[in-house]
Amino acid sequence: MPETRVLGRQRNAKKSKRLASQPISRPGLFAGRTRILTTGFRRSCSEGRPARSWKEASRASVLLVSPPETTPAYFDAHLHSDGLSNQDLCSMTVFGLKAALVPARDAVCDSVKDYLAHFQGLIQLQAKRLEKIGIRPYAALGVHPARIPWHGLEEILAAVPRLAVAGRLVAIGEIGLEKGGAREEQVLERQLELAQELGLPVLATTPERDKLRLTRRLLAILRSSNLAPESALVEHANAQTIKTIRECGYRIGLSVNPMHLTAAEAAALVRTYGSDGLVVSSASGDGASDILALPHTASVLEEQGLSPLIIRRVLGENACVFLRVGKDVLTR
Ligand SMILES: [Zn+2]
Repeated sequence: MPETRVLGRQRNAKKSKRLASQPISRPGLFAGRTRILTTGFRRSCSEGRPARSWKEASRASVLLVSPPETTPAYFDAHLHSDGLSNQDLCSMTVFGLKAALVPARDAVCDSVKDYLAHFQGLIQLQAKRLEKIGIRPYAALGVHPARIPWHGLEEILAAVPRLAVAGRLVAIGEIGLEKGGAREEQVLERQLELAQELGLPVLATTPERDKLRLTRRLLAILRSSNLAPESALVEHANAQTIKTIRECGYRIGLSVNPMHLTAAEAAALVRTYGSDGLVVSSASGDGASDILALPHTASVLEEQGLSPLIIRRVLGENACVFLRVGKDVLTR
């Protein structure tokens, strides 16, 4: 064996030993609450045992931490896992993530081929990856309003029922409006029809720009479809739009991340509007993200005196009800 390789191994062994004795601390993360994460070591979390070597730990690319004694269970109903590392996802499981909905997104999809590859990737690759890490995977497929292809829409949508056979498809999404206009509305209406044909709920996105006007337009289109109100989750709601969405009877999605709401803002909306039909997600993996959005929101809700029942609902159970998934995914 070449000498350099032996030396490399010795160095790796030393590095492994050093890492195994290093505490990983997150001071101040949950100040005032039970100390959730204090020490930890690297290991392979997919196999539930410590890594045998630094090489194996690096390959698994995950972080082992001592699990908190009382970890709540979360369902992230909007998680772009294809934009997150294994280490991020594994850290999320340590903080209580049990299940996630991975929707199709504003990916670089300009052709039928790109879209089909994106869909396949979510249904197969991402689902297997999440499962291995310990997160129950669910998928939503659809054409995002920011990436409507010039040609081949019907060909893309025809693939959705075929992929539903895999059993992981539980919703159509993300669909919705981005800038508005006839073409976006036409594509949205077509996908609402598809959702009804397949008997699936929809994940309907709203944009940051011109939010109130486009949310109102989205609601009008949802209302003119035959989709039952409880079958649509209107995503990225904020203080400006939540009242109108609630009045129309649709489920409300609050996204806690640097692009949308802070945990405190989401908690204030939960306090004001109650937990009925409210689903808090991280929407992480697409742009600026906060992988600890759900535990952080739970912490703020708890500090503000909201009951464990409300916290469980908005961070897990309401997502299960919306997606028609058994609540037992949160306890497994
Ligand atoms: Zn998204």
